[in-house]
Amino acid sequence: MIQNKYKILLVEDEDNIRNLVATMLDTAGYQTILASSCSAAKTLFASHIPDLIILDLGLPDMDGVNLLDYVRKDSLTPVIVLSARTNETDKITVLDRGANDYVTKPFGSGELLARVRAALRNHRFSADEGRLPGGRFILKDLEIDYDARRIFLRGEEIRLTQTEYNIVALLSENCGKMMTYSAIIKAIWGGSAQEGSIKKLQVNMANIRKKIGDKPGEQNYIANELGVGYRLNS
Ligand code: CA
Repeated sequence: MIQNKYKILLVEDEDNIRNLVATMLDTAGYQTILASSCSAAKTLFASHIPDLIILDLGLPDMDGVNLLDYVRKDSLTPVIVLSARTNETDKITVLDRGANDYVTKPFGSGELLARVRAALRNHRFSADEGRLPGGRFILKDLEIDYDARRIFLRGEEIRLTQTEYNIVALLSENCGKMMTYSAIIKAIWGGSAQEGSIKKLQVNMANIRKKIGDKPGEQNYIANELGVGYRLNS
């Protein structure tokens, strides 16, 4: 059997957390490369070309955002930010600077691994221009036919408005990635995220979630992080 393990660069200066996450990743079958500073991570990123980066922001030599900027200069390698910073503005900043997702400390192993799988999956989708052969996207009971601009749940068509369809299609093409309000608004309506357009997005999103059967407090298709954005869970 050929071992084709995903390579994950883990950047974290706290020994306890680094060891814990590294063990978690090893157990899940990933190959891990470890760095405890931003400069070491830059060198390892260049020499190992990892499939994904898990990045702590509070590093001893410089802010982890430096590595994010460095990586994003010429690469789409998924980056999951790990941080104790719970401020919404901080989350929006790193997501808009190109992070794929954000996990707040303390986190459960299940949560982090789910985000890792989602980010890797999302990256494979974008490599294929976000589509499965035949212009279809399938996620559990949800199916999108991009060519016909139609959406089905368990084989039944769901009636969406043009705007609602555009939002679902956008989220599906970024499946697993937390999309900020401003990123969605810019893609759907153009322009920036003002008070009015966020309201408009929230109204559309509430209708979409009702139509696809998402219920509060359950494992849903669309996750909402209040004040930050939305993610289609993979
Ligand atoms: Ca730290």
